[in-house]
Amino acid sequence: MSLSEFELIQTYFNRIDKVNDPDILLGIGDDCAIIHPQSGKDLLLSVDTLIEGVHFPIGTSAEYVGWRSLAVNLSDLAAMGAKPAWFTLALTLPNNNEAWIKAFSIGLFNLADQHEIKLIGGDTTKGTLSITIQVHGYVPTGESLRRDKAVPDDYIYVTGFLGDAGSGLRHITKNNELNTDYLVARFQQPQPRLSFGQAIRAYANSAIDISDGLLADLSHILEKSKVGACINIDDIPCSPQLIAIEGKNEALNLALTAGDDYELCFTASSDNHEQIMRCATQHQLLVTRIGTITSECLLKLNDANGNPVVVSSHGYQHF
Ligand code: ADP
Ligand code: MG
Repeated sequence: MSLSEFELIQTYFNRIDKVNDPDILLGIGDDCAIIHPQSGKDLLLSVDTLIEGVHFPIGTSAEYVGWRSLAVNLSDLAAMGAKPAWFTLALTLPNNNEAWIKAFSIGLFNLADQHEIKLIGGDTTKGTLSITIQVHGYVPTGESLRRDKAVPDDYIYVTGFLGDAGSGLRHITKNNELNTDYLVARFQQPQPRLSFGQAIRAYANSAIDISDGLLADLSHILEKSKVGACINIDDIPCSPQLIAIEGKNEALNLALTAGDDYELCFTASSDNHEQIMRCATQHQLLVTRIGTITSECLLKLNDANGNPVVVSSHGYQHF
């Protein structure tokens, strides 16, 4: 016999009994959750919806859907230097397939437990598969990393490798001979850079997470901060696996324009370069300086010889 809506929530989502958090006065089970926010902190909120066939391919395994739904939201907290606190989950399901819901909850809580974020409520409805998660996190008052605080001469950095997830998405549905497991995993299980985001709060001036592609997301920093940037394309970090599968040119194209990596792009005064690199070592994270913020409000790309390179949505080409 299939479980009712309430039994499903109780079985797979209500773990609030195990949560020992003084901020959460009441979790799942009443009309509202009750939170007693900490003083001296700012509370940051972000919500994202993932729809099957739009944000992930139809038929993606439930465990990855659970992981990814939370990961994309946690990445927003990471980008602002926040420490995750709790989240809500609005789940629209085509049916009450218990095996699917169980696998979804496993993927979801694997990531939630890694980052100690607690599910405190939600909603469950019937319809096309879609997942809406709202995350909440804390930052000491006034210390959030924002898009509008980059200044000229800041160094520009990115975490990790770029372009992997965009390539992974291409290969996810292809039944080919290539070994694309690493790339596909980078799409299916992005790792939000939460502890690193918190660590660089003291040193960085601005930050954003890379969900739409480096050029698009960096442009948001430039617009909000009213500055420009000069990027050295030969410094953009591409994984050996990406280059092996896509070739060097296409790897770079993906790194610049494909989304879904959920790495961070941030800027910091050159005075803080050593501290930034120390944070990278401490978090065992690749961090690469890719350019410099400029006062002229343009996004310029140069190759290793200092020659300008132009990029369009179709790729990049030399002048
Ligand atoms: P209401 O009808 O008052 O909105 P619901 O029947 O939708 O309440 O939900 C009952 C309780 O279960 C609430 O505490 C709600 O937050 C929680 N809940 C419902 N769906 C989910 C879900 N998918 N994940 C977590 N909690 C949920
Ligand atoms: Mg109610």
